[in-house]
Amino acid sequence: MNLLIKNGRVIDPSQNFDDVADVLVEAGVVKEIGKSLKAPAGVETVDAAGKYVVPGLVDMHVHLRDPGLEYKEDIVSGTRAAAAGGFTSIVCMPNTKPAIDNKAVAHYIINKAKSEGFCNVFPVGCITYGMGGERMAEMGELKEAGCVAVSDDGRPVANAELMRRALEYARGIGILVISHAEDLALVGEGVMNEGFTSTELGLKGIPRVAEDIATARDVMLSEYTSSPIHIAHVSTRGSVRIIREAKARGVKVTCETAPHYFTLTDDAVRGYDTNAKMNPPLREADDVAAIKEGLRDGTIDCIATDHAPHHLDEKDVEFNAALNGIIGLETSLPLSLKLAEDGVLTLHQLIEKMTVNPSKILGIMRGSLRVGSVADITVIDPSAEWTVEVEKLAGKSRNTPFGGWRMKGVATCTILDGAVAFSRQ
Ligand SMILES: [Zn+2]
Repeated sequence: MNLLIKNGRVIDPSQNFDDVADVLVEAGVVKEIGKSLKAPAGVETVDAAGKYVVPGLVDMHVHLRDPGLEYKEDIVSGTRAAAAGGFTSIVCMPNTKPAIDNKAVAHYIINKAKSEGFCNVFPVGCITYGMGGERMAEMGELKEAGCVAVSDDGRPVANAELMRRALEYARGIGILVISHAEDLALVGEGVMNEGFTSTELGLKGIPRVAEDIATARDVMLSEYTSSPIHIAHVSTRGSVRIIREAKARGVKVTCETAPHYFTLTDDAVRGYDTNAKMNPPLREADDVAAIKEGLRDGTIDCIATDHAPHHLDEKDVEFNAALNGIIGLETSLPLSLKLAEDGVLTLHQLIEKMTVNPSKILGIMRGSLRVGSVADITVIDPSAEWTVEVEKLAGKSRNTPFGGWRMKGVATCTILDGAVAFSRQ
């Protein structure tokens, strides 16, 4: 299928391009970008006047819940939600049932996504078998099966010696390690950020230092082993500072944050709203300011969703008993665009953190509209205003704190491999 995307503002940070132009797609690749391109015979035209045309968005932190937990989400519903949110590539975490600790599970995910999915799915394999934190998984086998990184996300690798060996082994075979940075002893029985609000609500707190210590340890292990590390879902001022300082002295550390960490504070927990319960927890205004500074100065490389679907029965319970996590694929784009609207980031910086940066960190050859690139493209209407109606979301689960919020900006057309995967009328 051939496509001509006409008159959009093409923003492609991978080649420093930002101008009104047409994009011609032929045989699944970007053929040409230029002014007033002629539509060859039989080409389908997409009118993008007044819209942004950007490389297909990449989300490097998603929980698809498939295999084993399909009552929360599955590969079809999850990729449908991703395409509706403007994502053409997502990276899924290994805490499925069974976990992605062997090639059979990785193959199942890749094949099902290819045959039934609405976007590219790149799986992450486990660092340890069953995420048990005891025995290293066969990283070579996982890489060969198509895993783009390894992580025990959802759980930290508590044993520093094991994490050191994992980093050394990963460096040897060239696979990225993603750290879920959390010290479980400091977390204890905490269920929200430790501070004024947790005291007022009478809920047990999780101190920021539980994240900071684990970030510092993994940064130091990365430095010691000269192995790259990526810190998932950064939420504290301390973590941002530690990563900034490490980058300045040349440590190969990268990191991501999620929209809720620059949009909400632990005030959202008031009323004991379990849709404000996630791990790491929502922090305070000072942390939100630090996350924004980290995004602006390049300390934070990527915006990822940490899309974590849960069934209503797992959320509609007492706060202490509710499971951690929120969905995010369909609200990430507008919440992130707000950073540009508020002047926190330039559009170039914002698109970079949602396209080329995660692609480079993962080595997945996406996130660019260079001639010859795979034609994964997102068309965004930046001025469309809409209300989040949870019942109408494309995924299976409804656990979002943004229900009823007014949003500005939406993906109107998501193009995968040169074909329209999602279109909003
Ligand atoms: Zn995590």
